[in-house]
Amino acid sequence: MPKLLSINSFPDVKPYKSLENHQLQERIESVRRHLGSELLILGHHYQQDEVIEHSDLRGDSYQLSKMAAESKECRYIVFCGVHFMAETADILANRPDCLSQRNGNRVQVILPDLSAGCSMADMAAIDQVETAWADLGDVIDNSDITPITYINSAASLKAFCGKHGGAVCTSSNAQAVLDWAFSKTSRVLFFPDQHLGRNTALKMGIRENEMPVWNPHDDDLGGNSEESLANSRVILWQGHCSVHQMFQPEHVHQFREKIPDVKILVHPECRREVNDLADISGSTGKIIDTVKKAAPGTQWAIGTELHLVNRLQKEHPEQNIQFLSPTLCMCATMYRIDLAHLCWSLENLANGNIVNVIRVDDVTSDHSLIALERMLNLTN
Ligand code: SF4
Repeated sequence: MPKLLSINSFPDVKPYKSLENHQLQERIESVRRHLGSELLILGHHYQQDEVIEHSDLRGDSYQLSKMAAESKECRYIVFCGVHFMAETADILANRPDCLSQRNGNRVQVILPDLSAGCSMADMAAIDQVETAWADLGDVIDNSDITPITYINSAASLKAFCGKHGGAVCTSSNAQAVLDWAFSKTSRVLFFPDQHLGRNTALKMGIRENEMPVWNPHDDDLGGNSEESLANSRVILWQGHCSVHQMFQPEHVHQFREKIPDVKILVHPECRREVNDLADISGSTGKIIDTVKKAAPGTQWAIGTELHLVNRLQKEHPEQNIQFLSPTLCMCATMYRIDLAHLCWSLENLANGNIVNVIRVDDVTSDHSLIALERMLNLTN
């Protein structure tokens, strides 16, 4: 790769923090021009405007994984998202068929700030899931349980699902994945987001009392009786998204009192009490699409991450869009990806010093890929 002589990259991000936004923006664009099609910047919808403006492609977790899977020319993916998304991109962009087309050359995946994690993903650790699986096996037959992990999880959990006949799901295809699972087993272990699992299963007619919640910090069958596990259809992991958990039923009631024709639009990571009251519940992609297709003048109260709702307000002045909660619910970890980190990682890359590479080991990748390919093949 040719060097960028005009750029002095620094090993530390600190000097970039003192630059003005317009300087960072110019320097980011300069690297993008220099690297051309070798570089693909992916931006999650929850990113700040000033960051997502520099992305080649934007999407939710599902759309971004598909983009990573389809990338042909690029040699570097800079992922403006969180850690589990960069892991997924590494697995999909470097799957065996892609590697052989590129004569074994890997796509390097870079996360501009390594501290951009996901609190929900952190709520299910692989050793906790393995313990739960073993404990469940003492009470019910493991071969009659399909493990399903939401894409918002570490690669080790995706690998666990691949190894045990399970799959990854997203908020857009969770129902299709559960349907597939029930075509082969009578039970599902769903992690890490209890709300997506519960809201999806309820839509399919599964009753709340058939969905015990597994508390990974309770050594006694996750806090469940043998009977409740024996009668279960979906065993839900006790995890949640700290952003979507903030929306409450009273927020919905307050909006309906104030604006009787308001449409409540929420993400299925919201708790059941909010999801049940909403007019429409759907993935980030569905939320964006629903607003885009609505009649001008529609009144919306939207329950999802703040940056996305603010962007929808800007991009759709013909709609009346408000944020569902009176308090700010934004994803603090996504917010860690700022212009300074993006510029720092790009300039180092352009100078041949690749920083913050996310690389999933081969064994974990191979098993994860099985579960991810099932996800990509199953649509609602
Ligand atoms: S919004 Fe929630 S689930 Fe998404 S990355 Fe942030 S903490 Fe994780």
